[in-house]
Amino acid sequence: MKSYFSHLVCSKCGQEYAPDRLLNLCTCGFPLLACYHLDRVRQEVEKTVFQTRPATLWRYWELLPVLHPENCVSLGEGGTPLLELPRLGRKLGFSHLYVKDEGNNPTASFKARGLAVAVSKAKELGAKKLAIPSAGNAAGAMSAYAARAGLEAIVVMPEDVPPINSIECAMAGARVSLVKGLITDAGRMIQQARERYGWFDVSTLKEPYRIEGKKTMGLELAEDFQWELPDLILYPTGGGTGLIGMWKAFDELEHLGWISSHRPRMVSVQATGCAPIVKAFTEGADSAPYWEGAQTIAAGMRVPKAIGDFLMLKVLRESGGTAIAVSDEAMLEAQRLWGKEEGLFVAPEGAATLAALLQLKERGEVQPEERIVLFNTASGLKYTHLLHFDFPVLGLDQQLTE
Ligand SMILES: *Cc1c(COP(=O)(O)O)cnc(C)c1O
Ligand SMILES: [Zn+2]
Repeated sequence: MKSYFSHLVCSKCGQEYAPDRLLNLCTCGFPLLACYHLDRVRQEVEKTVFQTRPATLWRYWELLPVLHPENCVSLGEGGTPLLELPRLGRKLGFSHLYVKDEGNNPTASFKARGLAVAVSKAKELGAKKLAIPSAGNAAGAMSAYAARAGLEAIVVMPEDVPPINSIECAMAGARVSLVKGLITDAGRMIQQARERYGWFDVSTLKEPYRIEGKKTMGLELAEDFQWELPDLILYPTGGGTGLIGMWKAFDELEHLGWISSHRPRMVSVQATGCAPIVKAFTEGADSAPYWEGAQTIAAGMRVPKAIGDFLMLKVLRESGGTAIAVSDEAMLEAQRLWGKEEGLFVAPEGAATLAALLQLKERGEVQPEERIVLFNTASGLKYTHLLHFDFPVLGLDQQLTE
């Protein structure tokens, strides 16, 4: 397989870097993005080739940064279903409502995509020990891929992270530390220790390749919709790689001439208890200050400060989209509705997109016939600690009633 990966470019100052070194941020302190020889891809690759390959994210090889297939660390990530939601759609008044169900990924969240590519690339460039601060699912995915690659994993996360997340890391052999704080505190601790111990930091957007893995959600959507992108995408937002990654995918596809200039409006969904992007978007700001006292049951969205905030805000504005905050109660209600109507057990982060759609409808910012995609970013099975039921327990001599 031929690689078309060309170089890295700084998303802020435009400085370029050769692709053959293990790098974190630009010297100016902002994220680096991967660039490809798109003109050559355009000449040499047909978009029909992807459907002939196995349904994992690696089918988009020509738009990924790994140079040699033997360095791919895979657990079968990507290739998730795009499902119609006919019952939910009818109930809410939408004729083309879909979910991209990322809960089907390895480690049961879409974090598998980013970390499959980041760990593969780190291995290719010679890293031995990978460190990650995480709100939960990213650490689970990193631990799994590091184990698969034979690399060491160092994980730091909040002490009140969903219980499954610390357990899944430990089961993959990672060294787990919990911190009395948030993901940003975990990030600071790793930053202070990493040089001393030779750890490679795979924080969101602090290395250039997780976003390339997340980008494949956009590539898959294009393929799922026969290369005509939907009208509206609702995405639960934390660090923002999903949002920024999909938009990058659409830019590349348009440059390749594989899609038209029709783009979806991108909607960032956050929790009312941690909504820095919503606040910055509403105020017309270019970046989002630290959110004090971040709190929500949707652990994946509990990110009080994101290094890619300016990129997210740019995507929302360029796309004509918006940003919406929903309460934890609204998420739980939407989660239950989704299960009852369609049989899908979604994560609270995924449920937040449904709650946000209801707000958009109330504001008159979405039309009934539009093609709408909700992103369920993880399986609800990772969040059973949030749910409680009291079931009747029957004695053996009791009879069932209807
Ligand atoms: C990390 C995470 C998010 C936020 O994703 P970003 O791309 O970092 O904004 C949303 N949902 C879940 C379940 C997550 O784990
Ligand atoms: Zn720079």
